[in-house]
Amino acid sequence: MYEGIIQDLIDELGRLPGVGPKSAQRIAFHIIQSERVDVTRLAEVLKTVKERVKFCTICGNITEEELCKICRDPRRDNTSICVVEESKDVIAIEKTREFKGKYHVLGGAISPIDGIGPDQLRVKELINRVTTEESKEVIVATNPNLEGEATAAYLVRVLEPTGVLVTRLASGLPVGGELEYADEVTLGRALKGRRQVS
Ligand SMILES: [Zn+2]
Repeated sequence: MYEGIIQDLIDELGRLPGVGPKSAQRIAFHIIQSERVDVTRLAEVLKTVKERVKFCTICGNITEEELCKICRDPRRDNTSICVVEESKDVIAIEKTREFKGKYHVLGGAISPIDGIGPDQLRVKELINRVTTEESKEVIVATNPNLEGEATAAYLVRVLEPTGVLVTRLASGLPVGGELEYADEVTLGRALKGRRQVS
């Protein structure tokens, strides 16, 4: 245990995802030994990102504007919506260059253990979009793990009354994994080979 502010810094860094106690200590000492100007810049970015970044009012993707870049793009196909858990999944699918529609970011996946149910996710907003936009297909691209599958099953059920075609990414993605770790070729193939589930 270190004294005062040094331990506070290590504790804060240790709360970040993927940062264990050893890494937190290493980063803390890196910051302590860095030039003041570099640390100030980092602190400014941290502060500004919280002030500026918000969620797209249509799809829930992160953006600095009212609408995200994809929702603002008139060349994107309005008839298909790809549903993902997080904004980072939008990036993963964009990298495949196989999808020209719009997205819907749920903000997570159903996980009873973590107290996350459909009400904590942007499900109502999705149903609202499907019924008011010219949607023909909803591609459910939640992660191929337990929570992602539970979320997909739930979405299929609640989307059924809307009559929209619901598809799911093809298998081939590593089971139990996450979209962001799938390589572009595998993810692109899973997207092209998507199957109807509704
Ligand atoms: Zn958007």
